[in-house]
Amino acid sequence: MAVRTTELVIIGAGPAGICAALEAASHGVKTTLVDRGEELGGQLIKQTHKFFGWHKKSAGTRGVLIAKKLAEEVLNNENITLLNSTEALGYYDDGTLLVETPRGIDRVLGDRLIVATGASERMLLFPGNDLPGVYGAGAVQTLMNVHGVRPGDSVLMIGSGNIGLIVSYQLLQAGVRVAAVVEAMPTIGGYAVHASKIRRLGVPIMTRHTIKEAYGKEQVEGAVIWELDENWNGIPGTEKDLEVDVVCLAIGLTPLAELLWQCGAEMAYIPELGGFVPLYDETMETTRKGVFVAGDVAGIEEASTAMAAGRMAGLSAARSLGKVSDLDYSRLRNEIAGELEGLRSGPASAKILSGIAKMRAMLQSVKEAAAVSEAEPANQPANQPADQPANRPAKQAASEPAEAGDLPKAGARDSEAQGNNGSKSEEAVGA
Ligand SMILES: Cc1cc2nc3c(=O)[nH]c(=O)nc-3n(C[C@H](O)[C@H](O)[C@H](O)COP(=O)(O)OP(=O)(O)OC[C@H]3O[C@@H](n4cnc5c(N)ncnc54)[C@H](O)[C@@H]3O)c2cc1C
Repeated sequence: MAVRTTELVIIGAGPAGICAALEAASHGVKTTLVDRGEELGGQLIKQTHKFFGWHKKSAGTRGVLIAKKLAEEVLNNENITLLNSTEALGYYDDGTLLVETPRGIDRVLGDRLIVATGASERMLLFPGNDLPGVYGAGAVQTLMNVHGVRPGDSVLMIGSGNIGLIVSYQLLQAGVRVAAVVEAMPTIGGYAVHASKIRRLGVPIMTRHTIKEAYGKEQVEGAVIWELDENWNGIPGTEKDLEVDVVCLAIGLTPLAELLWQCGAEMAYIPELGGFVPLYDETMETTRKGVFVAGDVAGIEEASTAMAAGRMAGLSAARSLGKVSDLDYSRLRNEIAGELEGLRSGPASAKILSGIAKMRAMLQSVKEAAAVSEAEPANQPANQPADQPANRPAKQAASEPAEAGDLPKAGARDSEAQGNNGSKSEEAVGA
């Protein structure tokens, strides 16, 4: 088992992780960027459409082109070591990150960690949801836009947010029929411009409708949709049978935060941020000291905010390693905070801002409780060993590897660290 040492480890080479790496590396931090994918860019490598968002932050540029530019910057940066096709498995008390590489399990010892693992797609409960032909929208995008494979001939899209609308349009561009887009809410979730485009091509968008069931012998052969009443119950008698071979779920994303649970960061359920998220402060540091977060794993937003939050996490990690002067730190911190404020100034960001405010209030309570328990050592349970920190969560101790005591100490450098990347250069398909 190889041991690699570095100053900063970043898990996830999506827009958040890459921008964190570039920022930290610009201050001279030796950074190791780990991603289980082969290509750099996270979600961006499948986004052939022109980006929505703030014009100063890549709006109007295709996601694949943003990914390509970011990948080039990473590959040309001598302070960044890329470990692609490498999955992060667990992060332990002594700063060991276990990773699975194509050659086996390795250990990466970092002084700081940034988790930028993004999000996973939500699933929906309905009879037949385990049939082949039921996909998440991200999977459909990967099939079509990365591998050039059409998922089927005729699709029922569930969800009219921007992702559902954009993927519907991309399906139409690929020659796939979109039978309908159904939306449980009374109004369309995504931008009117995306909705109009697919409506003009004859696709009905049916609000207050959902899927009742998908059916088929060995794969999806059809789906039944029905109207919802005000209590979200299906109305008998409103069923419509659609002949489709694909049901595509675009009903939202949820933070991919398992590594943060495992390493003992405090987590909270905040629906406005997409589910369970880590509690983190303005510097993006979690309650686990030295562990920072950025991007969708900290709350579902957009690539533009993920990039700015990534920069903030990279700057904070560099600062905590003593690599940034006070003057530079406050200048850069204000600059990035201003950028984030600008990106979140529209009405669509109200939900995110209220989720962040909720999360910060919870963080404050956790800090206050920790301060009280530190001030009262007598409250420590009688059966707890004196040398174990009182606030160390049981789940963290339970998740340590059996041989944790044998793990090498941070500081023992090795020369193996090296990475490669197959950066993508294919033509973008216009949306
Ligand atoms: C269909 C669609 C359209 C979108 N359109 C837009 C748009 O127009 N404008 C916009 O601003 N945003 C858009 N977004 C949102 C945007 O793509 C995301 O907000 C953004 O990619 C989040 O960046 P991230 O770096 O946090 O996560 P991701 O891009 O998801 O990257 C996370 C990375 O972490 C890696 N990873 C995860 N777990 C591990 C592990 N254990 N070990 C190693 N690596 C791991 C993954 O392989 C991945 O590369 C869209 C999203 C979708 C799905």
